[in-house]
Amino acid sequence: MAVRIPFNKPYIAGKEMYYIAQAVAGGHIAADGPFTKRCAAMLQAEFGIAKAVMTPSCTAALEIAAMLCNLAPGDEVILPSYTFVSTANAVVRLGARPVFVDIRPDTLNIDEELIERAITPRTRAIFPVHYAGVSCEMDRIMEIAGRHGLIVVEDAAQAVNANYRGRSLGSIGHLGAYSFHETKNYICGEGGALCVNAPQYAERAEVIRDKGTNRSRFLRGMVDKYTWVDVGSSYVPCEVSCAFLCAQLELLDEINERRREVYNFYRDQLAPLADSGWLRLPTIPEGCEGNAHLFFALLPNAQQRDALIAHLKQHEITAPFHYVPLHTSPVGLRFGYRPGDLPVTEDLSARLIRLPLFYELSEFEQSEVVARIKEFAAGVSTRRAAA
Ligand SMILES: *Cc1c(COP(=O)(O)O)cnc(C)c1O
Repeated sequence: MAVRIPFNKPYIAGKEMYYIAQAVAGGHIAADGPFTKRCAAMLQAEFGIAKAVMTPSCTAALEIAAMLCNLAPGDEVILPSYTFVSTANAVVRLGARPVFVDIRPDTLNIDEELIERAITPRTRAIFPVHYAGVSCEMDRIMEIAGRHGLIVVEDAAQAVNANYRGRSLGSIGHLGAYSFHETKNYICGEGGALCVNAPQYAERAEVIRDKGTNRSRFLRGMVDKYTWVDVGSSYVPCEVSCAFLCAQLELLDEINERRREVYNFYRDQLAPLADSGWLRLPTIPEGCEGNAHLFFALLPNAQQRDALIAHLKQHEITAPFHYVPLHTSPVGLRFGYRPGDLPVTEDLSARLIRLPLFYELSEFEQSEVVARIKEFAAGVSTRRAAA
């Protein structure tokens, strides 16, 4: 049975194939051709990033960021447990310990008021994650980091083109990481960028990304040969991906506006269910401007959440949940965490559902999703009345 309303459908802005053809005809399809440079320049200009470094994924950007933090065994990094695995992998693969902090019930972002008590003499960095493209409380986080001499790495994978007090997410921390994976707002299949906001990391970021060599200095004519100068890896994206991404970044506002329409439709149509107290819808704190990356709802309990997912599935609508909290995952348990350690994270992750949200989702399809949710809600209250 074919899925009638998928959760996501990658949007094609229009010029992707044209730019890819240009890249191929230009004869440069490895890294750092003209399209890679154009993408980096657009990110810098649009989002006020001092230096954007294109990468093959956000995962790769987070790995470079963790290496720039000089993380080593014994070090600790503060991050939410309610996130994608890449945030934690970046620090764990260098031997550092992930120190998971609970989330705020309104935004599901790291609770800034719990950060300070998690700091120890071994803490090196904070990796806040902007869940659903809505900002963490960055002023407070930067202030805490400043007082304790910690590096802040924003996991802005979901937060491209979102703002906090007039500043772009990804441009506020010392470092930031974007994703252009096909499930995100601006895409090229697999892709990412490292935002280098603190200038002291700029040169080493390029070295780590290019196999530990000073090749980028060589290409700029600053040294007469290039050589192995540091530990590195290959974190360069293919020019073909950046040609694709270029077409998307040129339509930054148009894509954002359409996603907001879809988001606002759900928000308005589901408001009665929220008013009745049955559903909880996302809240966007004052000073934050989201990018409509995802639309979630919180059900009263895990049983109803699972039953709603099953109900929608019966009607060929894909509405998944996420995340399995990292501290209760097999790796989290190996670090000594136990269920019950982070009550807000555990409670909310068990009650959350995500609704289909993509550029080409029609109002007709959205109405169908809303109608099926309302149908389910009516069934719940009938069953409750009968009981
Ligand atoms: C998608 C995502 C990532 C990983 O992005 P990739 O580009 O697929 O590596 C990391 N962190 C968060 C919060 C994400 O949503």
